[in-house]
Amino acid sequence: MVPGARLIVLGKQGAGKGTQCMRLSHRYVVPHISTGDMLRAAVKSRTPLGLQARRYLDAGDLIPDEVVLAMVAARLDQDDTRTRGFVLDGFPRTVAQADGFDELLKPAVIDLVLNLVVPTGLVLERLVSRRVCEDCGAIYSTSAPPKLNWSCDVCGGEVVQREDDTEEAIKNRLDLYDSSTAPLVTRYAALGKLVEVWGVGSPDEVTNSLTAVIDAYQHGGEFFPPTPTQARPPAGRRELRELPLGAGEQS
Ligand code: ADP
Repeated sequence: MVPGARLIVLGKQGAGKGTQCMRLSHRYVVPHISTGDMLRAAVKSRTPLGLQARRYLDAGDLIPDEVVLAMVAARLDQDDTRTRGFVLDGFPRTVAQADGFDELLKPAVIDLVLNLVVPTGLVLERLVSRRVCEDCGAIYSTSAPPKLNWSCDVCGGEVVQREDDTEEAIKNRLDLYDSSTAPLVTRYAALGKLVEVWGVGSPDEVTNSLTAVIDAYQHGGEFFPPTPTQARPPAGRRELRELPLGAGEQS
């Protein structure tokens, strides 16, 4: 068992980050820190942060860096992340957040950054059909709904379409990803921390690819620098050529 890990998972909205981070968190017994889930919880319980964040979330805009950094700083101050590490989902999302995060983490450093690569056409399809448990954040889709009446299989909560999964907000989030978050891929690659993982396939296939990468760089509780890679569809996955938009795109 890994004594702890500090992982970041990057990837466009709809690349499957949430599901995969939840799985990695269980497998490596590290806290799953999702800034999107934290912000949605704050909105739901109408905290001062939630009241401030709501309009950004509804529009698919990014919350100001200093607000997100303060929220993450408070979370990193808790004992579980100090002892076990974390898997970060949806953070950092801008270069300023990555800079602030480096400072917060000192003297510790990130072990590994996994970039989940999925073609834009597929991401759009997934976002439009995505459904989420309001209570625990478990992710479903119109083609893979919960077993009973849109009640979550995990906790029984109501499974709904996220309010920011509208066409306009989705487009805005994808544009923001390209302008604000994609530069982080270059940043972590330059630091020798980045591994790209092909995110198309069944959730189990993608989890296996991710854990194979993590296990390959982790020995006896230590992480070693990865060899730079670029995610490619596995040989024989010809159906990807038929995707409508941006198929085969590597960002
Ligand atoms: P998705 O699942 O679409 O990738 P998230 O659940 O990660 O989206 O985030 C939902 C919304 O929460 C974002 O559109 C943004 O408004 C806000 N948000 C989440 N994380 C951050 C962050 N690191 N910086 C700024 N805003 C954020």
